[in-house]
Amino acid sequence: MNTQEHLKLVEQYSAANYHPLPIVLTRGEGAWVWDIDGNKYLDCLSSYSALNQGHRHPKIIEALRTQSEKMTLTSRAFHNDQMGVFLKKLCELCEMEMALPMNTGVEAVETVIKTARKWGYLHKKIPKDKAEIIVCNHNFHGRTTTVVGFSSEPQYREGFGPFAPGFKLIDYGNLEQLEKAITSNTAAFLVEPIQGEAGILIPPQGYLTEARKICQKNKVLFILDEIQTGLGRTGKLFCYQYEKNAKPDLLVLGKALGGGVYPVSAVVSSKEILGVFKPGDHGSTFGGNPLASAVGITSLDVLVDEKLPENSFETGEILLEELRKIKSHHVQETRGKGLMIGVEIKIASGPARPFCDQLMKLGLLAKETHGQVIRLSPPLNIQKKEIHFILEKMNAVLSK
Ligand SMILES: *Cc1c(COP(=O)(O)O)cnc(C)c1O
Repeated sequence: MNTQEHLKLVEQYSAANYHPLPIVLTRGEGAWVWDIDGNKYLDCLSSYSALNQGHRHPKIIEALRTQSEKMTLTSRAFHNDQMGVFLKKLCELCEMEMALPMNTGVEAVETVIKTARKWGYLHKKIPKDKAEIIVCNHNFHGRTTTVVGFSSEPQYREGFGPFAPGFKLIDYGNLEQLEKAITSNTAAFLVEPIQGEAGILIPPQGYLTEARKICQKNKVLFILDEIQTGLGRTGKLFCYQYEKNAKPDLLVLGKALGGGVYPVSAVVSSKEILGVFKPGDHGSTFGGNPLASAVGITSLDVLVDEKLPENSFETGEILLEELRKIKSHHVQETRGKGLMIGVEIKIASGPARPFCDQLMKLGLLAKETHGQVIRLSPPLNIQKKEIHFILEKMNAVLSK
């Protein structure tokens, strides 16, 4: 089948809930992917940061293969010999005590909402069904009905109500609003250290530290969704590590936790907080399965052993600095941390999508986010020559 035939199949048989670039990929290795015509592209989306370790990292594929030949699924009705090992490694890396494994990111977000509410009823004596969670405008935490219910993005919500109550929206980066929004019924504040889907929005320096302080003062759980920013993406293992005393009460992880081969997510926290769960309170058929756990163990090992956060920091700094040197009348602002970079296109130059289409033709895959922003988030093990490739193509497209 050729490209047009594949696109037709998808048009006919797939719900149109995405608007992908018109290429059909068939192979990936490291930072590079190939389409069915043999064209090669540098993957600067990395599946929204799920591919921090690159495509088909040999060690992760080996873990997947080895485990798949032994056992793939037990359900949590029985123990398996991988999950405990995985969660120990994860907790030690996060300097936390306990974790609850799930599959996709939004399931971990749902889990953290349930955790915070139950904690609020048990430990803060919030009256029944009155728990509130504070979230931010332009948040992205996934696509279930509860989660889109507290989105500020009209398209994420339109036609999907009614929505669950119990959420309060405040402006991202605004500490005064946070303080004002807190009541005796507030269980938690849920926030992204950088708003990725909103267009790589970086809050003022010190925001997380202060937000945590406000939360502690008011006995409110401070929850960071690091599904996208975590595991080395921003040049630290976790983005909150850029600030002093910003460690969250609960950390939400996903995406790269599965090394780009398998959906693995988790909520990581303390014994006191995750201790609110009793058998039967919550669960997932596939959560914590041995295949996911084996992949998770190796995905974390690869991040640490290959110093991917460090490489992300170093290459990200060079990339950001050089991108800012590109002379272009199209660029409003270039911003980022580590290898999470956004190039915002001026409104007068039109949306970012046509720039991404041009980049694709030059062999660089990047997806626009929030209309005006070209997102650059390549795998974290890219080297200097890939940085040069990105700069060359960005220069070609932006300086026109
Ligand atoms: C991707 C993402 C999610 C949702 O993860 P899924 O695996 O797509 O459900 C939640 N929060 C953030 C910050 C994300 O980037």
